[in-house]
Amino acid sequence: MQYADVIVNITADALDKPFAYIVPDELSGQVVPGARVRVPFGNGGRHVSAFVVALRDTCDYDPSKMKAIEAVLTGEDTADARLIKLAAWMCRTYGGVMAQALKTVLPTKKRVRRKKTEDVREELAALPAPAVLTEGQQGAVDRILSEWERENPRPVLLRGVTGSGKTLIYMELIARVLEEGRDVIVLIPEIALTRQTVMRFVARFGGRVSFLHSRLSDGEKYDQMKAARKGDVRIMVGPRSALFTPFSHLGLIVIDEEHEESYHSELTPRYHARETAIKRAEIEGARVVMGSATPSLTASARAERGEYLGIVLPERYGSAELPETKIVDMTEEMKSGNRSIFSGTLKEELTDCLREGGQAMLFLNRRGYAGFVTCRACGYVARCPHCDISLTRHLNRKLVCHYCGYEIPEYETCPSCGSPHIGGISVGTEQVEEQLKKEFPGIRTLRMDLDTTRGKEGHGKILKEFGERKADVLIGTQMIVKGHDFPNVTLVGVLLADLSLNAQDYRAAERTFQLITQAAGRAGRGQKPGTAVIQTYKPDHFAILTAAAQNYEAFYKEEMSYRRIMHYPPEGLLLAVLGSGEDPAKLHEAMEYIRRFISRIDPKNAFSAIGPAPQTVGKVRDRYREVIYIRHREREMLVKARSLIERYTEMNSGFADIRVEFNLST
Ligand code: ADP
Ligand code: ZN
Ligand code: ZN
Repeated sequence: MQYADVIVNITADALDKPFAYIVPDELSGQVVPGARVRVPFGNGGRHVSAFVVALRDTCDYDPSKMKAIEAVLTGEDTADARLIKLAAWMCRTYGGVMAQALKTVLPTKKRVRRKKTEDVREELAALPAPAVLTEGQQGAVDRILSEWERENPRPVLLRGVTGSGKTLIYMELIARVLEEGRDVIVLIPEIALTRQTVMRFVARFGGRVSFLHSRLSDGEKYDQMKAARKGDVRIMVGPRSALFTPFSHLGLIVIDEEHEESYHSELTPRYHARETAIKRAEIEGARVVMGSATPSLTASARAERGEYLGIVLPERYGSAELPETKIVDMTEEMKSGNRSIFSGTLKEELTDCLREGGQAMLFLNRRGYAGFVTCRACGYVARCPHCDISLTRHLNRKLVCHYCGYEIPEYETCPSCGSPHIGGISVGTEQVEEQLKKEFPGIRTLRMDLDTTRGKEGHGKILKEFGERKADVLIGTQMIVKGHDFPNVTLVGVLLADLSLNAQDYRAAERTFQLITQAAGRAGRGQKPGTAVIQTYKPDHFAILTAAAQNYEAFYKEEMSYRRIMHYPPEGLLLAVLGSGEDPAKLHEAMEYIRRFISRIDPKNAFSAIGPAPQTVGKVRDRYREVIYIRHREREMLVKARSLIERYTEMNSGFADIRVEFNLST
């Protein structure tokens, strides 16, 4: 006997309590997750339509007391039905339970507070006249349109240096799709959703475009989703969650800054917006266009294999040149007695820049710095000999690999140069600002990091002030590198460029390349040429060299050969089994059980499973965290392994106090 869980109302509250019905034999096969069905409901003999959210072989109730589904309501292919189908796919691909997936794709119903509308006519009037596409930009549009003529158009990957006009190309495509009477979703990272971006879209599409961002209340978000459902809004621009806008005629999904980490959800289901967008487009017959100056290796590898249509825009628009880059070896600075965080070259460039009335951005690369150990004299970083990942310092004075658990005692002196200056690194934007004011008396600075942007409109305000030239230098973490166009910025300084090379992650080089390329791309966006100074302990590292040269192809080639040797994605897929619990001993034992279970279902170790080992952050809110990695070339194999492990941990009482989650990197 088969049973189906159905929900009668599409509201988050109802999702927690689906109702179970019997699936009659004659309807089996037609009753699938996402299908709309008619069921008898309540005691009054009412018949209502409902959505199937899950199927199962067993049921907690007495079947003789249960009611059966009466009919499958065909021809009701609604936005909700398609989103539920998408949720079912997310659940199968990324794990978790259907209720979580449904909450992710369906809007929460909340009372709506009216929002006031702002008069932006003046601001709009000040924007430059509509742009005419250059030959190169028009060529890209034409190639995409002819791809769309094909029966099964492929997703498009648009690689264009910063300032090459990708946004303009998206807008051209969006206009075409609107003409067809279909709707558009534009995903951009939250941090790039600036007033500048909003104004560009409003100038072109007026009231048909709407924006989602984290400062909206749940009520306001729900209101926007409702407007999209009704057809009052035709373009939804926003971060990851905008992907689930319930348009009934979705025609196009644009993913800007495709490489951004924020497209990977950290909440169950841990979906990736790129994969999920492609699936949604497949369900709805829509198209996908992604763009980036530094696409993820995964996307580029797929373009190389022809799974995506790859298009390259090699030049900046107009006379804007890519900046001149200078690499500074910080080991040499230390040797010559300069212990400042600013190199001689950076100080000279900054002096020149300020004298000429320019502005500068100083970018502090702090990504992945947590807990790793480095030598201040030579830049040496301890790495795992098995995984090529940097080791993390633990409180027990051990250095540990978070992939395989390898550990060694902490160093007293640097094993490479003998210097005693080896230890954890701590440097923040505040220290940079302080130091800058000391060395450049009277300099006007703005700081942008998690602290200064916490308040409402926090980062918008800082960017606005900088744009109005109320400061000479903007100091910030990775959040200053994207999406902002400041024509007066002629100097970008990248302090500590290689910190992120040491992140405990196989993508460390990729992240570093992306950050430096994007940061350097901020300089010289206007008429004046720009300079980027890159300070590093690893002046010969290929990620630094290729980023300085803005040479994506060279980086891609070298990094792919490394991934191939190590069987890291995209030359294989990686499934992380993430366990957490309050008792570290119990957690470890449970994870060992999972490891043994994997050996049992995979005696030849085709999954080349490694671990369990502590996660990068080994303890969060008093819960200890461990991880096992499983690698395989085929996604289906990993999906299968995941569901076996899921079932194993569900049925086994030893896992009662342990939470097990999964993360699939592609
Ligand atoms: P990207 O998204 O690739 O960084 P943008 O679309 O933001 O590039 O373009 C960068 C800048 O160049 C913008 O200020 C844009 O208005 C301008 N621009 C690009 N192409 C053209 C064009 N064909 N005509 C006029 N301005 C253009
Ligand atoms: Zn290791
Ligand atoms: Zn050293």
